[in-house]
Amino acid sequence: MASAHPALVVKAGRERSLLQRHPWLFSGAIARVDGEPQTGDTAIVVGADGKFLAQAAYSPTSQIRARVWSFDSGDSIDDAFFAGRVRRAIAARAPLLDPQHTAARLIHGESDGLPGVIADRYGNVVVLQLLSAGAERWRAAIAAALADATGVRCVYERSDADVRQLEGLPPRTGAISGVLPRPVTIFEGGLCYTVDVVSGQKTGFYLDQRDNRALIRKLAPGRRMLNAFCYTGGFTLAALAGGAQSVLSIDSAADALGLAQENVARNPAIAGARAEWRDANVFAELRTLRDAGAAYDLIVLDPPKFAPTAAHAERAARAYKDVNLWALKLLAPGGFLATFSCSGGITADLFQKIVAGAAVDARAEASIVGRLGPSADHPVALAFPEGDYLKGLLLRKAA
Ligand code: SAH
Repeated sequence: MASAHPALVVKAGRERSLLQRHPWLFSGAIARVDGEPQTGDTAIVVGADGKFLAQAAYSPTSQIRARVWSFDSGDSIDDAFFAGRVRRAIAARAPLLDPQHTAARLIHGESDGLPGVIADRYGNVVVLQLLSAGAERWRAAIAAALADATGVRCVYERSDADVRQLEGLPPRTGAISGVLPRPVTIFEGGLCYTVDVVSGQKTGFYLDQRDNRALIRKLAPGRRMLNAFCYTGGFTLAALAGGAQSVLSIDSAADALGLAQENVARNPAIAGARAEWRDANVFAELRTLRDAGAAYDLIVLDPPKFAPTAAHAERAARAYKDVNLWALKLLAPGGFLATFSCSGGITADLFQKIVAGAAVDARAEASIVGRLGPSADHPVALAFPEGDYLKGLLLRKAA
């Protein structure tokens, strides 16, 4: 029963974001904690006037002191609640996904009404990432609901992201149910990719770039491509399949590069001979390429998260400017640059300004011919703008 739960009393004047259905309650907005909620417990959130606002998971060590499960006082936060949310998230995606793709994000945290929960399907495996005290509390129920709703044999946990530290949670990885098949493979656009579920980045693959891989494939025919920060070769394979004349892929992670090359070899229909790989620091390598007089007709820049939060924005802006500047110098007249930021701390507006500054310094005349974002299985709830992390621009350099 709701009334049996501890209560978090919000300071007068700090209710607004909850009334607008933003799912986070920051520590500074709490006037008082009634009762003794333990980490992950469900608490009732009430206004200064005592009125019900939400039911939320309590996280005593985090600045985000509570994350909302429900804005409805009538919901019971129990196993059935999570089964319902998981089913809802999966059903919502069905009309947006291509059934020929065997991988998709099934749960995208706050934007699917499940704060701190990420679940990605890779064929017969669901990889689950629990990032908050509340998500951790309901681990068994969420894993069971995912297995039930998808029929997969293995739910594998990758709860090893750094943000867990902020919630006072240790890292945890391994199979929750079933046995992880090896290798884990997926199909996208007729291409087969091996996904390193055990130790790859995020849950193993950049599902959010699916639509952008299709775009690069379309732009590839006859072009000399440079794929900077290539990871396991998502964009490389797309460009080769699209008929790129050549693709140079750069990453500083040797194991990711190794898997990228395996991925090319796994697809006999694409000509691996047109692929070149370089284990290098992109910042230095772009300068080296420029010094050697290299030029490309299609460049992808998909760097890691330089600014996880707005506090890192300034240093991150310099890094983004630098790589974009050198990419624009390396871009041949009439060429395309697909440039991305997956930093939550960099807004789309700021990113565009950074890229514009890079073009000025590179003395490059370029236009925005496309605004890029994540695929539809990475929704952004309107009430949760923080979920809008991935932004990209497709630029065309003047001929
Ligand atoms: N574009 C990829 C995802 C990129 S993730 C895809 O679609 O799958 C970011 C990648 O940048 C990681 O593989 C990481 O190893 C690499 N990386 C980070 N810093 C780097 C640097 N300074 N130079 C080269 N690679 C770097």
